[in-house]
Amino acid sequence: MSNWPHQNSARDFYGANMRLSKGVAGPDPKWERDNLVLVPIPWRAVASWDHGLKIKALRVHSKVAESLTRVLDRIWADFGQNQKAIEIAGMHLIGGGYVWRAMRGGSRLSMHSYGCAVDFDPNRNGLGDPTPAMDVRVVAAFKAEGWTWGGDWSPRNRDGMHFQAASV
Ligand SMILES: [Zn+2]
Repeated sequence: MSNWPHQNSARDFYGANMRLSKGVAGPDPKWERDNLVLVPIPWRAVASWDHGLKIKALRVHSKVAESLTRVLDRIWADFGQNQKAIEIAGMHLIGGGYVWRAMRGGSRLSMHSYGCAVDFDPNRNGLGDPTPAMDVRVVAAFKAEGWTWGGDWSPRNRDGMHFQAASV
């Protein structure tokens, strides 16, 4: 179990990832070079928005890489290292890892902007869907590493596809 920051302190823990260019905020290329790493996915996976696009790894912050590796290894083991079982659970459908964007309905950065959040199977675990389809073994694997599941949030904000290494 790791000690993740509260999401209000994500900037202090993961580092400020913002650069102004002509008054417009965007990601900081130096921060990206210094902090982002690739965590290989043990099973075959594709982009949820394009099933022809193979995804071999999740791009995340180096501080969460070892933990995420343990999570994925546990999921792969709990599913019997069976690709078919992974696909029934929708875990081969990658919604995203690192992506720079503002938090929904606010000016703060999304946890995805710090590389400490990942999304799986967004079509069956949509934002605001009160009954996400996320497999309990997946949720357990993330929680064992102290990650927060968006499927636990209030129905209005429920985000079943989303796991983050930050508390709320
Ligand atoms: Zn997310």
